[in-house]
Amino acid sequence: MVLREIAMPLLYDTLRQHEELWELYTRKEEYFPQQLDKHGRFPYALSIFQNILEPMVSKYLRDNRFDIEYPGNKQFAVCLTHDVDEIYPPLNHTVLSSLKCLKGLNFRGFKRQVSWKVHGKEKSPYRNFKAIMDLEEEYGARSSFYFLATNADITRFRYNIEDLENELGQIKDRGWEVGLHGGYYAFNNLEEILREKNRLEQELDKKVIGYRNHYLRFQVPDTWEKLAKAGFGYDTTLGYSEMVGFRNGMCHPFMPYNLRADREINILEIPMAIMDDTLFESVQSYERALMLTKRLIDTVALYNGVICLNWHSESFNCPFKNMREIMYNEILEYCACKSAWMTSGEKIWRWWSSYGCYNNPEKRNLG
Ligand SMILES: [Zn+2]
Repeated sequence: MVLREIAMPLLYDTLRQHEELWELYTRKEEYFPQQLDKHGRFPYALSIFQNILEPMVSKYLRDNRFDIEYPGNKQFAVCLTHDVDEIYPPLNHTVLSSLKCLKGLNFRGFKRQVSWKVHGKEKSPYRNFKAIMDLEEEYGARSSFYFLATNADITRFRYNIEDLENELGQIKDRGWEVGLHGGYYAFNNLEEILREKNRLEQELDKKVIGYRNHYLRFQVPDTWEKLAKAGFGYDTTLGYSEMVGFRNGMCHPFMPYNLRADREINILEIPMAIMDDTLFESVQSYERALMLTKRLIDTVALYNGVICLNWHSESFNCPFKNMREIMYNEILEYCACKSAWMTSGEKIWRWWSSYGCYNNPEKRNLG
């Protein structure tokens, strides 16, 4: 039974019986927002659904006997992702990093932070993909790296994707995923999305399946429609920039529904539950951040869900953000102990789209 063909209508019908949850699932309140933030995003503060740490829709589906299965009978999955915003950090970033190294008498770190300014772009401390992959490999994990493929950005020039041909090849050859980190101006512009996708695919020499927009800019349901038209398999933008948790009450991947057109959208959403910046900015201490993270992981495990994490690649190798790297290690350790399936968005998309993961045992023969 293929999830897209059989199970989704059943899932929609089940959810429609509970109006509030249907509105949460479809993000109805985002169709006519009263107010958006300065980046045009719908803010958590304005949502009528404040109970964001509980995946209400996933809970309801489980209570209605929708089952999920994972390879190797794993209880839940962790979708590990990295937005690649920085390769060549701006000067103030380098100064901060260098000072932090000097203060800690970390001379090797200091050298790494400044030497690329002297010896050239190849030595940038944020060409760190191999180290991130090595770390993940220790836990049998895989992940997704989302790269920018545009020169247009709201703050400054970031990097040319053409400079990273070797890195892209290494990531691909090791079986990790390269996805598109759609530019600041892409989320509502199909031509721009296609331009960036083509540019990345040309460098990668492979079709790109996964997407997340820079700054989490997103318009419900239009961005999904555009991504589906552009040929993406999945998106993982749907999380709030100012709050961790489950934006549409789902801790599972799902096929979005277009309320305006009254139909399913042909793309899988793997909703992002925790972004490193958001986590560290919303709680005061490392201990509280870790506690909150473990609470969310435990919740997702309870519902046999997928928890999607976004740890920026510049959170690694960064002296003034080193707590984020330490936290990432702890998360991998914690999830490995819980025997989670830790993998990339692409692998989850492949699994989801080729098996009927929402197997409702009472109704599975109806198709
Ligand atoms: Zn970004």
